[in-house]
Amino acid sequence: MENFKCKVCDKDKPLEDSVSLESQICVTCFTSIQIHKRNLKKIEFYKDVLKEENQHTPIRKNKIKIIEKMNDIFSFQRADILQISQNDVNYYIEEFAKQKTIRSLRFWKGKYIVREYEKDYFDLDRMKRTIGTYKRKINASNRTKIKFKRFVNIIGRESQFKVLKNMLLTKLIEFVKTDDSEEFAKLKQFIFKGVEEYYEEGLIPNISLFFHDNYERLFSTLFTKILPFDIRRISFSYPRVNSRTDFGLTFFYRYNAIELHAIEDAIKRHCNDKKTKLNQVCKFLFLNNIKTITLILDDLLLHYYKILKIHSSVRSIVNVLNSNQKTTKRYNEVYYKIHMREW
Ligand SMILES: [Zn+2]
Repeated sequence: MENFKCKVCDKDKPLEDSVSLESQICVTCFTSIQIHKRNLKKIEFYKDVLKEENQHTPIRKNKIKIIEKMNDIFSFQRADILQISQNDVNYYIEEFAKQKTIRSLRFWKGKYIVREYEKDYFDLDRMKRTIGTYKRKINASNRTKIKFKRFVNIIGRESQFKVLKNMLLTKLIEFVKTDDSEEFAKLKQFIFKGVEEYYEEGLIPNISLFFHDNYERLFSTLFTKILPFDIRRISFSYPRVNSRTDFGLTFFYRYNAIELHAIEDAIKRHCNDKKTKLNQVCKFLFLNNIKTITLILDDLLLHYYKILKIHSSVRSIVNVLNSNQKTTKRYNEVYYKIHMREW
C-alpha cells in the first residue's frame, strides 16, 4: 500500500489516512488542528476583552500562557480543554506525568508542527489548577460576544435601527418577548408578584416603590439576561419615586470596541440609508432597550385598573429628562435620565 509522510506529525501514514491528496496531513492531525484552532480563536478573543478593559495584567498573561500550552498538548491528544470536564483534565495530566516526554501541537510561523518536550518543560500541577477558572472565563466572554453580534444583526435586519414610527422599539419588544421567553416570563412574574405586596385595598399598588426597591435586579435581568449587555459596564442610579405609578432612574452604559464593531457591521449589512451613524444607533438602541420595560408595565397597570373597575385606556411611557453621550474610537458611553409614568 502506498504511504505518505504527514507534514504535521512527520509520520508515514497510509494514503487513505490523508485528508486530501494535496494537503499531506493525516486525519488524526487534521482533527487535532481543528480543535486547536477553535480554542486559539476563543483565547485570542478573551485576551482582546481583557485588553479592552485594561485587565490584561502580568498575572493573567501568565495564566493564559499556561492555557495556551495546555491547548497545545491536549489538542494533540484530540481533547478539547475548553469543553472537557475537570475529571478528564486530571486523567490526562496523570497520563502525561507517567511519560518521559510530551508531544505538543504548535502553531509556528504560520503552520502547524508537532514538537516533543521533556516532561519538566510543563508545569502539570499548575495546569490542573488553572484550567477550571479560565475555561469558564474564556467560554463566557465568547458567549457574550456571539450573543451581542446576533442581537444587533437581528435588530438591524428587522428595523434598520430606524426610530421612525417606533420601528426600533417594536422590534426590540418582539425580541425581548420571544428570544428567551422563559427568562422574560420569569421577569414578568417577579414584577407582578413583587408589586402585589405593595397593594392596598382600593388603590393602585405602589409600583414606583417596588421599582425603587428592586431596580437593580430588575434592570440587570432585562439588560444582561434577556438582552446581551455586559453587567460590568452598565449602571443604574438615583432612583426617584414621585407618585404610585411615577418613577425616575438614571442609566449608563459603556459600549466597548467589540460591541461597536458588531453594530458597525450590522449597519453596513442592513441599513440602506448611508446616513445611519454609529453614535446615533448606540444612543437610540440603549434608550429603546429601556423602553421595552413598558411591555410589562402596561400589563401591570391594566391588571390593577381592571381590579379597581376603572375603565381607562391607560399605558405607561418613558420620558427622557436628560441624556448625554461620549464617543471615542474605542468606546461609546451613553447616559439617560429617565422618567417613567402612566399616560
Ligand atoms: Zn499527522
